[in-house]
Amino acid sequence: MNNRRDFLRKGALAGILLSGATGISGDLVALDKSELKNGTLTKNSGTIFNSIAFITSESPGVLAEKATRIFLRILNERTGLDFSGSGGNHLTIRLRILARTMPPEAFRIEKPEENSIILSASDSNGILYGLGKLLHISVISEAGFIPGEWHGLSVPEKSQRNIYFATHFHNFYHTAPVEKVINYIEELALWGYNNIEVWFDMHGFEGINDPKAGAMLDRLTIILRAGKDAGMKISICMLANEGYNSSPIELRAQPPKQIRLRGCYGVEICPSQPGGTELILKQIEEELEAFSLRGVLVDFIVVWPYDQGGCGCDRCTPWGSNGYLKLSGKITELAHRKIPGVRIILSTWLFDCVEDEGEWAGVAKAFRDEKPWVDFIQADSHEAFPKYLKNNPVPGDLPLLNFPEISMWNSWPWGGFGANPLPQRFQGLWDEVKDKVAGGAPYSEGIFEDINKVIYSQFYWTGSKTSIQTVREYVSFEFSADHAESIIKAIEILETNHGLRAGFKPGSPPTFKVPTEDYGAEEAYNLLKEVDHNLPERTRISWRWRILFLRAMFDYKLRKNKGFTDETVEAGFRELTELYYAYQADLSVQPPLK
Ligand SMILES: [Zn+2]
Repeated sequence: MNNRRDFLRKGALAGILLSGATGISGDLVALDKSELKNGTLTKNSGTIFNSIAFITSESPGVLAEKATRIFLRILNERTGLDFSGSGGNHLTIRLRILARTMPPEAFRIEKPEENSIILSASDSNGILYGLGKLLHISVISEAGFIPGEWHGLSVPEKSQRNIYFATHFHNFYHTAPVEKVINYIEELALWGYNNIEVWFDMHGFEGINDPKAGAMLDRLTIILRAGKDAGMKISICMLANEGYNSSPIELRAQPPKQIRLRGCYGVEICPSQPGGTELILKQIEEELEAFSLRGVLVDFIVVWPYDQGGCGCDRCTPWGSNGYLKLSGKITELAHRKIPGVRIILSTWLFDCVEDEGEWAGVAKAFRDEKPWVDFIQADSHEAFPKYLKNNPVPGDLPLLNFPEISMWNSWPWGGFGANPLPQRFQGLWDEVKDKVAGGAPYSEGIFEDINKVIYSQFYWTGSKTSIQTVREYVSFEFSADHAESIIKAIEILETNHGLRAGFKPGSPPTFKVPTEDYGAEEAYNLLKEVDHNLPERTRISWRWRILFLRAMFDYKLRKNKGFTDETVEAGFRELTELYYAYQADLSVQPPLK
């Protein structure tokens, strides 16, 4: 059996042979460097493995094979080492799919011997999430791989662990090289996300045959396929009454009530106009066919009332419980005809958002009078969870999904100042809904809220796992177990100091609004600078570290300079622009460069 003592002995012996007087071998140099620079061995002193073999049945299935490739890709990226050989200390990971022995997607990790791990699941998704867990709890350094100590059974509590990618404004999902987006989707799958949602936003196109629409459908197809390949279900979101920019003027919707919050593009279609509903359904049918022609078979459709959209005409009002609800029935019928088995999520975003318009109560009544035609209700808001659901059951007693806003809250441009970790905020919001929901779908504008996505992935997996426990797991895996406390402290400060904003006027450089409070911006920056000096090069230059580090720098420098930039700040904005591929981005997702 290889344990660390054996490894040291072997290394020392090799050192005598190879290095003569110094008595230090290549392996030991790596080991020392790791202890000194990363300090990982003091936290986890198991055997360091340099090669890994997966033992599977003869036909482990496409997803289980894919999971091992993702696992090895990340190990290689993090260490520069190739673990596929048989040299050095050799770890065996046995993957066993034992149908119906545990709940769907669950996994069990066992360590019968120091150099052997058994990962069992009822299905290949469980294998994927188990390998993700194993990766996230392990220590990965330039010296090799030290498996985490955790073992046991892990069962996901929430079945709907969705993630919504906004693919617009030339944000990361819209413009980054596809292989980067695909890798990112795989990395989210390792944290347990099992459903990816995108929206084909019609208003920018003349129709389904507009070449620009085709390019967007192609891009969305790549994202959805990547999700499918990583074991996810795939979902299409749609605004119930959206329109192309060529929509007939006589069929156009009236702006919704509370337009300041709900918004509209002005090209939406009123379903109460003769021919309006038919046009809406024709467009949706064409969209589903366009995806189908590209080989995409949708598992879920998420129908949305507002933001943008809705209709404020007398015949559609109140939109949520009248025009929208009727339309949702017709969309459901069409969807079931086109894609048997497809499931429908009814979003209630911005229902009764300022005053009680009877939207919630109307949907509840409709689903008492008639069997609900949708499968899930989705509810949330920019700020607090909708009041209606705090005091009333979910309409139709349907399973409820939340829609946490992890990207835009209280800072602008979104991602313009790097990472926006908000663990305390999300813990508070989660505590209010965790016993009510069957999962949810965080709204994502890019990679800058990676920590927030991971926090929610773990809420959905284990409702009682706190955001700070997840931040610790994330920080130890992505950055350094030994410096975790410093990084966590810095993240706490970043959250209390959250709220940087930029303002743009044509022809002028951006201006900055900085919160007057300062809860230790300099301390957070110093903590991360100190850690930065001690990280291995590969970690130090990784995008996840850079966006966190830059955020601490912006918080400190923009306060110190009273809202003015300097060379370091400008260089930071340039670097973020490169990391996000935001060269053509709209102001809302563009780092605020001069
Ligand atoms: Zn109308």
